[in-house]
Amino acid sequence: MESGAVRDVVILGSGPAGLTSAIYSARADLRPLVLEGEPSSSSDQPGGQLMLTTEVENFPGFAHGVLGPELMVSMRAQAERFGAEILTERASRVDLASTPIGIWIGDRDVPEPTLKTKTLIIATGARSLMLGIENEARLLGYGVSTCATCDGFFFRDKQIVVVGGGDSALEEALFLTKFGDSVTVVHRRKELRASKIMQDRAFRNEKIAFRWDSVVVDVLGGERVTGLRIRDVNTGEESDISADGVFVAIGHAPSTELFAGQIDTDEAGYLVTHDGTRTNVPGVFACGDVQDHVYRQAVTAAGSGCMAAIEAERYLSSLAET
Ligand code: NAP
Repeated sequence: MESGAVRDVVILGSGPAGLTSAIYSARADLRPLVLEGEPSSSSDQPGGQLMLTTEVENFPGFAHGVLGPELMVSMRAQAERFGAEILTERASRVDLASTPIGIWIGDRDVPEPTLKTKTLIIATGARSLMLGIENEARLLGYGVSTCATCDGFFFRDKQIVVVGGGDSALEEALFLTKFGDSVTVVHRRKELRASKIMQDRAFRNEKIAFRWDSVVVDVLGGERVTGLRIRDVNTGEESDISADGVFVAIGHAPSTELFAGQIDTDEAGYLVTHDGTRTNVPGVFACGDVQDHVYRQAVTAAGSGCMAAIEAERYLSSLAET
C-alpha cells in the first residue's frame, strides 16, 4: 500500500456495492483502495452476504445461475484487473469531519490515521439478524435462508417455515406461497408486529399457517434442513415440525457502528442518502444495503455502487476546479 499520499477514493466493503464502485472508479483512473473486511468476522467478511448464499439465479447475465461466492470472486478480480487495490483489513475508526478524511486500520487510539482520502465510499452492507442457533449457521445455504426473493424458487412444492412476526416475515411468507406447498409462520408471540394490511393478506392466504407463542430451539437436518424443533413459550413443550426450507426474517441491522455520530442515519440506523448516493458529509457516499432497507438485492447494490463511483468522480473534478 502506498503510504503517506492522500488517496482519491477509499471504499469500505467488498460486497456487490463496494466492488462495483471499485470497478467504476478504477476504470476512471482513480486508483481506489478497497478495505474488504476480514475473513475472521462472519458479519463483515469479504464479499458480503453473497458469500453466505449458494446459487444466485436472479443476477442478470447468468442464464444458468452462479454461486454467490463465485460471483464475488469474479467481481473482485474484475476490480483488480483495472487497478483497484484491495486490502483484507477493516477500518477501526474514521474521522469524516477532517479534510482529507482520516481512516484508521488496527489501533484506533493512535493520533494519526493510517490513510487519508479525498472521498470515501461506504459500502459496509447490512446483516440479517439470526436466531443464533448452531445448526442455523451450519445449514445456511442448505435450506436455511434469509432471502425469499433469492432462494424461494428452490422450494417449489416444498414445506416452508418463516420465522418472525414483522412485515419482513409476512412479506417473505406471502412471496413464498408462490412456490411452497405450505408456509408456516413461527412467531414467538400471539400478536404480529406486522402492519394490518400485511396481516390481512397473510390471514386470507390459504397456504399460510401460524404457530403462535413458539420459539425455535433447533434446526434439524444433516446435509440439508429437514425440520425445526420449537418450544411453546407457555407450556415449555417442545415439538418438531418438518420443513425443507427455513426463512429467518427477524429483521436486519446495517453495519454503521464505525460512523456513529458522524453521519446522518434514519431511525433504523441506515445511512441517509440524497441526490443519488451523497450523504450529508461532503465527499462521503453510501451505496448498497447500508443505505437501503427496501430492495436489498445484489443487483440494486451493484447499481448504487456504480452511482457512488460516478458521483465521487464528479466530486473530485469539482474539487480540482476550485
Ligand atoms: P421488525 O419489524 O423488527 O420485526 C421483527 C420480527 O421478528 C418481530 O415480530 C420480532 O418479534 C421477531 N423477532 C426478533 N428477534 C427475534 C428472535 N431472536 N427470535 C424470534 N423472533 C424474533 O423487522 P422487519 O419485519 O424486518 O421490518 C423492519 C422494518 O421494515 C419495519 O419498519 C417494517 O414495517 C419495514 N418493512 C416493511 C415492509 C412492507 O411494508 N412491505 C416489508 C418489510 C419491512 P416481536 O414481534 O416479538 O418483537
